Amino acid sequence: MEIKELLYEGKAKKVYATDDPAVLLVDYKDDATAFNGLKKGTIAGKGAINNRVTNYMMRLLEKEGVPTHYVEELSERKTLVKKVSIVPLEVIIRNISAGSFAKRFGVEEGIVFAEPTIEFSYKNDELGDPLMNAYHAIALSLATREEIETIKAMAFKVNEVMKAFFKKLNVDLVDFKLEFGRLPDGTIVLADEISPDTCRFWDSETHEKLDKDRFRRDLGNVEDAYKEMMKRILGE
Ligand code: ADP
Ligand code: UDP
Repeated sequence: MEIKELLYEGKAKKVYATDDPAVLLVDYKDDATAFNGLKKGTIAGKGAINNRVTNYMMRLLEKEGVPTHYVEELSERKTLVKKVSIVPLEVIIRNISAGSFAKRFGVEEGIVFAEPTIEFSYKNDELGDPLMNAYHAIALSLATREEIETIKAMAFKVNEVMKAFFKKLNVDLVDFKLEFGRLPDGTIVLADEISPDTCRFWDSETHEKLDKDRFRRDLGNVEDAYKEMMKRILGE
């Protein structure tokens, strides 16, 4: 597989074309941003951890019947994925109150919900990723009603698989963000990443935060938290 031109450099990853037009190469960086790019920094070793953790989760989800963009892990930071047309929605599932949910509704963090919630944000940096509902997404032709239904069902399935998986690692899955894309034939697959950058992980006993909130909130031991999650997930 030959690596061709850089197509896109995002906040956390670089995306390259390959000699197969249906396949992209993703290269994970150590750069970290928060608050829509306002806070910037680096987390040493993050790229390698997020690459390996994402691929582990994608393979687990595939096994559980969730179609994903995953193709092959090439090296510590580089992975081949199926090229998709990204549905420009950040799909957020929550099991426990935290972050923007706690702020928006004026409640404390840590309320365990009777049922998970789902919400969408419009993936648009200039607008600051505004919250939107399914009708807004359909009105703006970001996705069809059928695609939204598929995405919702897949996101809740991902939550069930991940919640059970993390429970065994003594980790509470608080909330997370997913992205979905369309293959050329229109099939919706899970894309992007699943990592401590995009999920909130709390130790089940101590409630210690083991995710990007350590960076966002200047809690210290950011690298250690990422390493601890990799150790629990991959056993190393
Ligand atoms: P951002 O764009 O938010 O700064 P990243 O640095 O993670 O995020 O950049 C990766 C980009 O690649 C994101 O815009 C993401 O939507 C996109 N992407 C993820 N998986 C795929 C895929 N399989 N095909 C095409 N684009 C993808
Ligand atoms: N999230 C993400 N990318 C974003 C926004 C949110 O990965 O651009 C993840 C975040 O890590 C958390 C979940 O989605 O696990 C919910 O985030 P929230 O809405 O509480 O926003 P935040 O507190 O991060 O502003």
